[in-house]
Amino acid sequence: MQYIVAGAGPAGVVACETIRKLDKESAITLIGAEPEPPYSRMAIPYLLSEKIAEQGTFLRKTAGYYEQLNIKLVHNRVTGLNAADNSLQLDNGEQLKYDRLLLATGATPINPPIPGVDLEGVRHCWTLKDAREIAARAKTGSSVVLMGAGFIGCIILESLVKRGVKLTVVERGDRMVPRMMDDTAGNMLKEWCEDKGVRVLTSHSVTAIEKSDPLSVILDSGERLHADLVISATGVRSNIDFLQQSELETDQGILVNSFLQTSHPAVYAAGDAAQGRDFSTGEFTVQAIQPTAVEHGRIAAVNMVQNNCLTHQGSLNMNVLDTLGLISSSFGQWMGVDGGDAVCFVDKTRYKYLNLQFKDDVLVGISSLGHTENIGVARGLIRGQLALGKWKQRLQKNPERLMEAWLACSMGIA
Ligand SMILES: Cc1cc2nc3c(=O)[nH]c(=O)nc-3n(C[C@H](O)[C@H](O)[C@H](O)COP(=O)(O)OP(=O)(O)OC[C@H]3O[C@@H](n4cnc5c(N)ncnc54)[C@H](O)[C@@H]3O)c2cc1C
Repeated sequence: MQYIVAGAGPAGVVACETIRKLDKESAITLIGAEPEPPYSRMAIPYLLSEKIAEQGTFLRKTAGYYEQLNIKLVHNRVTGLNAADNSLQLDNGEQLKYDRLLLATGATPINPPIPGVDLEGVRHCWTLKDAREIAARAKTGSSVVLMGAGFIGCIILESLVKRGVKLTVVERGDRMVPRMMDDTAGNMLKEWCEDKGVRVLTSHSVTAIEKSDPLSVILDSGERLHADLVISATGVRSNIDFLQQSELETDQGILVNSFLQTSHPAVYAAGDAAQGRDFSTGEFTVQAIQPTAVEHGRIAAVNMVQNNCLTHQGSLNMNVLDTLGLISSSFGQWMGVDGGDAVCFVDKTRYKYLNLQFKDDVLVGISSLGHTENIGVARGLIRGQLALGKWKQRLQKNPERLMEAWLACSMGIA
């Protein structure tokens, strides 16, 4: 049997390891388009804040790790798929045959459609190559403009501040992390950042970037910002362009069933490239977070080896951020559900916020600021779909009693 895994990120690496655990003999080839050993994008902020060196971002750090598992690592780009004859085309013209294929090619940042976005000094923060260029320009005292205060933007924000730059964040939405927090929490996070010396312009967009000395960033208000570096963090899209001629069904990402199998039975998909099942809604969406990529990679691999024996129940959407010392999180249906109930506890002076969303007596979503101790517990309650019974009312009176609720419900004494 020949297994090929296209994409050497967390989804691809976990898939290869899982295949090898289940099948000691077959050939496994892992193809990554980037020159470095497989690494974690999630670790890039730590690299930028100089907590780790580049090797610290590598997903597996032992020398010879892939060789020892008899996984052949190929650095090349997949440019086409012919599912009818089980073959892949590589950028160097080579054609590879597979019996089972996993597509785990991740996502790519979207370029906002504004003039000047291709200028030197304007970058994404997505790859190790990006990180090197950012590190070269983001020096103490340099002026940096960050476009986008979503999840990825906020993660980068922290490391830029640690590098001592003068930072301005421009966000089109009316608050920070608009897809993770409501108005109140998103604006509390904004105040927190401003208090730490970051200029945050919400409800503003960049309309153009011009080459001057160094760069001029023009806002919709007419204001001009000078910048040594502009970082664009305005969203991502799945890497599926190379599938255009393949007849594989795609939408926002590669369409898969509950076994993470695509419209072609020998081909599976995982991670940011795949449109997998959402645990909360049952809908098939691209989640673009690492825990989902890892879960997909493991389940798809089991199904590739053992012929669809493991159903993917859906991945829980979750985001956890540390923004200059303030921890924020959101899980599941944090924005609430039709006919559901909610409770919200806000203490603006202490930067504490806790919002619980219920459907009947089950917790279906949470968003929080400044509540580290409740994060794991809330996740367990949502994922376990535990009936809260009388604990629902108790939580509505005091949402901070999540730990007690979890203990009571998980022991069946709710
Ligand atoms: C700065 C930053 C911080 C992040 N922080 C977090 C976080 O705190 N929490 C979290 O959950 N998520 C975080 N993420 C998102 C997380 O990194 C992704 O969700 C995760 O990497 C997805 O894993 P993946 O394996 O699907 O794709 P990727 O990690 O993107 O890997 C895809 C792989 O496919 C390769 N590839 C692409 N196209 C081709 C092709 N045509 N042929 C061959 N190979 C190809 C790429 O080179 C890469 O090796 C962060 C992302 C960034 C950029």
